[in-house]
Order: sequence, then C-alpha cells, then structure tokens
Amino acid sequence: MLKEEKAAEILFLAPVFKQMLWGGSQLRDKFGYEIPGDDTGECWAVSAHPNGDCTVKEGKYQGETLSGLWEKHPELFGGPGTDRFPLLVKIIDAKDDLSIQVHPNDGYAKIHENGSLGKTECWYILDCPEDASLVIGHNAGSKEELEEMVHQGKWEELIRQVPVKKGDFIQIDPGTVHAIKGGLMILETQQNSDITYRVYDYGRLTGGKPRQLHVEQSIDVITVPAPTPKDSVKPAAALPKNVMNELISCDYYRVWKLDMDEPVSFGQEYPFLIMSVIEGEGSVNGKGIKKGDHFILPSGFGQVELQGKMQLVASTVN
Ligand code: ZN
Repeated sequence: MLKEEKAAEILFLAPVFKQMLWGGSQLRDKFGYEIPGDDTGECWAVSAHPNGDCTVKEGKYQGETLSGLWEKHPELFGGPGTDRFPLLVKIIDAKDDLSIQVHPNDGYAKIHENGSLGKTECWYILDCPEDASLVIGHNAGSKEELEEMVHQGKWEELIRQVPVKKGDFIQIDPGTVHAIKGGLMILETQQNSDITYRVYDYGRLTGGKPRQLHVEQSIDVITVPAPTPKDSVKPAAALPKNVMNELISCDYYRVWKLDMDEPVSFGQEYPFLIMSVIEGEGSVNGKGIKKGDHFILPSGFGQVELQGKMQLVASTVN
C-alpha cells in the first residue's frame, strides 16, 4: 500500500451526557468525565442519534459529528448499506431503579412506530454493589397468564429479578422485559433506536403524576415464556487475557471483551471497530488512552497495536 493511501486516522469521540431522574455522579467519580450535574444518568459515548450526536475530538475531522461523517465519508465505515450509523454505545449510571421496559423488534416497530427500527441491546456490568440484581424476563407461562398478571398488577410475581455481579454480560433481545436497578453502572451496546415501551414504573410519581405506561404494546411484544436466567446472563469478568473474547454475535452487532496486560495486535478487518476503555490505561498505535475513552477504528485501518494494562469492550456491525 502506498503511503498516501494509508489508513484513515482513529476517530476519538466526545460523549454527550444526559441528566435523568434516576441519574447520579459516578460518571464523574469513577470515569473522570465533566458531567452537567449530579443527576447524570447516561453518557452517550458513540452515538450518531439526533438526540445525542457525538463529535470528533481531534485530528482531521475535529468538530464533525458522527452522523455527518457517516453521510460525507461512508468509506470510513466500509461503505455501509444502511441510512444511519447502526450502533449506539452508552454508559449508564443508575442511582435509582429505572422503569421496567420492553422493546419491539424491527417488524413491529416498522408497522407501529412509523418505520423506526426495533431495539436489541446488551449490557456489560461495569460496577455494582454486592448482592445486586437486575430485572430480566418474567414468570408468566403463557400470553393469557401475562395479560392477567399485568392487568391485575401482580408485579412482584410477574417480574423476574436475577442476581448479577461485576463483569456479567446480558443480551436483551426484543420482547425481553428488563430494568436496570439502582447502584449499577453498565456499558450498553445497542441498535441505534430509541423505541421503548414502559411496562411498569413501580407506581412512582414524577411531578405528581405517574409516567405514561405502554401496557397494550408491551403485552403485544413480550416474549412468552421468557428465556431462563441462565440463558440470559453470562459471566465475562475472568475470560482469557490478551485475546478478543466474543461475548455475542447477533443480527445487529458483535461485541468483544479484551482484558490485557501484554501488548496485543490484530488486523482491523471489520467495516469499523468501536472500542471503549473501561479500566486502566495504555496506548493504541502509540496514542495514549485511558478509562473512559471511546474511539472508532475506521475501515482499512490496518494493524492495531494496543499496549498497557487495561480492559476494553469492542463492537462492530454484523
Ligand atoms: Zn432497554
């Protein structure tokens, strides 16, 4: 390859922060971000969504948005066939419990949500208290039983709480009832979509009123029976070191965890590769990186040389 043709540069992104009723201050305390307030719930780290479009921090494309780059420089992303950047990576700091939700699949969203995409997402647990749990799945055996339990408000019986620990990985397919509970920090990789049906909000009031629930849509899309807890939660804290460990490969994305204490190198052979440093510090092709940094290795980047003692979560499209 001629020198001029050589690899596009690494895209380092500036996150967008979201203040939430249930947010906290851990994105500053644990990740060192400058957050807008002590109720910051989400760091949209790699996003081209109109509700939070990340900008490139430095280099040739400094100041450009990810959605702009996707449009003007499709070659950076392998000349994709889709109209929008397909993934969204967030860090979530839940000080309080989030409402219990479910997402539709592409087919249901297309018909009922104006052509939107559905949402498949997955979580890597960055931090949590001892004896932490999440809501994943439900205990109804049939659609009839589900409807009955929802309409009679038998939430305690219906909702399935699953114990989790730091380093667990959870795939949330459309139709899976789920909720993040207070105290957890999570790295979420998801389809670039925001369609969420709220099933139950613990009867909480916001400004004196309950938040809107989407009971009928939820009943429509919830998968019955739910997958078992064992099928949903995968321990990923202690995987083999210095190799890319695949956590999931589904229709929309592939996600890996890399826990390294020796130099790691590999060829960037994907349309693009997103990397988030979740622990430690080191370098990528000589450029210093640390916990809280998120970057995209563009198409044709070539050889990736990582050094340092750090943990990363990586993703690409399928
Ligand atoms: Zn969700």
